[in-house]
Amino acid sequence: MTIRRRYLCAALCLSVLAAAGPAAAARPVVTYLKSLYTPDYLQFKKRIVGRFAEEHAAPMTPLAPPLGRRYPGDKVIALTFDACSGRNSGYNEKLIEYLRAEKIPATLFITGIWMDKYPAKFRELAADPLFEIENHGLLHRACSYAGMKKYGVNTVSEIGDMVDEMELGARKIQAATGRRPVFFRPAAAFTDSICMGVAQALGMEVVTFSLLSGDAVPRVPARTIRDNILKRARPGAVVIMHFNRPEWHELEALKQAVPILRARGYSFARLEDFSINEN
Ligand SMILES: [Zn+2]
Repeated sequence: MTIRRRYLCAALCLSVLAAAGPAAAARPVVTYLKSLYTPDYLQFKKRIVGRFAEEHAAPMTPLAPPLGRRYPGDKVIALTFDACSGRNSGYNEKLIEYLRAEKIPATLFITGIWMDKYPAKFRELAADPLFEIENHGLLHRACSYAGMKKYGVNTVSEIGDMVDEMELGARKIQAATGRRPVFFRPAAAFTDSICMGVAQALGMEVVTFSLLSGDAVPRVPARTIRDNILKRARPGAVVIMHFNRPEWHELEALKQAVPILRARGYSFARLEDFSINEN
């Protein structure tokens, strides 16, 4: 069965409201990006941009479905947690400790900005085999060829900027961990067919979510997050949450939901262990 990921972006990742990040000051962003531009990278970027030159005239499908992935059909759920950017972006240590204590594998989508803010925490997470580190973009910029915006997050609409966001984010993680991420989740989990194509050209698979926990809704209580998870849990569900806002209520929600899910026969897996190789 193919996972059908929904694009219900409502109320998703409100953390990104304050996550305009460095783009709020254009010059530091340009300077930062330039510091990452090696001659090899610029050549690479030019090739990718050239490949998409024809696409400019092609009709764009907003919110195109991502590449299909397959899962065993067993009662397996992927818990995924984003580390967005922004002034209020922190580290929910108690949540991570809980996942460790309960031996719950999880996938962490991390931005380059968060890596810079918490280098020691990042190294610690990357060294833990319980966690899979994936790419949430270099600067936490949403990706829309048509320039559509979600939740006030800065959006990239130029192909070259998309390559910077995806590829430089992946290279930053690879440089720090020795492993190139295989999945890319754009800021606000928002994408379109052109962004999907660019990701594919870069060898990445775009992953949004199929189960919106609602953890980012302002003042949402733990019981609502818990109920969302329990009501929507299905074999192969990809649950989206965050681990960069310790004041949110994912931990309490999971403490209540996980025993119930386990009693229902569910287990948890990282995304990279989640799919079946069709070959
Ligand atoms: Zn985010």
